[in-house]
Amino acid sequence: MLEDTLELRRALIAHARKLTTSGLTRNTSGNLSHRVTGGFLVTPSGMDYERLEPDDIVFVDFDGKATGRRLPSSEWHFHREILARRAEISVVLHAHSPFATSIACLREGIPAFHYMVAVAGGADIRCAPYATFGTRELSDLAVTALEGRKACLLANHGQIALGTDFTSAHKLAVEVETLAEMYWRTRQIGTPIILDAVEMAIVLEKFLSYGKQPALPARE
Ligand code: 13P
Ligand code: ZN
Repeated sequence: MLEDTLELRRALIAHARKLTTSGLTRNTSGNLSHRVTGGFLVTPSGMDYERLEPDDIVFVDFDGKATGRRLPSSEWHFHREILARRAEISVVLHAHSPFATSIACLREGIPAFHYMVAVAGGADIRCAPYATFGTRELSDLAVTALEGRKACLLANHGQIALGTDFTSAHKLAVEVETLAEMYWRTRQIGTPIILDAVEMAIVLEKFLSYGKQPALPARE
């Protein structure tokens, strides 16, 4: 378990800025958190990531009590609920990435039009029903859409991607955005053929070992 350190606050700011440079976010939309002992660190509400200093990052405990000189992200409810319920997750990333958000504005998830939807942990990427941003209701709907999954869309809003660290959450968010773009393009030129449950079960099984390179023998 990581502690609330200056180093972690700096890493959180660096990865929040990466949301902008990688095209997942424009301006100040989206937010990012990391689990620490007793709660989590989260980006402050409505602040430009470029301006952030370590003391702008807010500590929130699992009762929802915030400590710091800034107000926490308006979405602290879903950061707290996800981190409280999912012991295997340390990072919650939320972005209004353009393609994922466009699909979410149809209030549709991303079906198995491509086998890579399995990166989010299941045979599709669900879309949580609409609720106003920053509400406990949105948090409850997001938690349900994320059951057994590491990513979901939020209707008329954006996406959430989870990870064991900043890098894995960011990679997943980029993958969700890429899949959303491909799904969008496919629907523009025709009707996608959706992979069936049997094939997706095979893919999910293969993903348990996919990409896990054997350890190299130790050098002399
Ligand atoms: P915050 O700036 O309060 O984190 O809100 C951004 C956002 O994306 C709300 O859903
Ligand atoms: Zn948002």
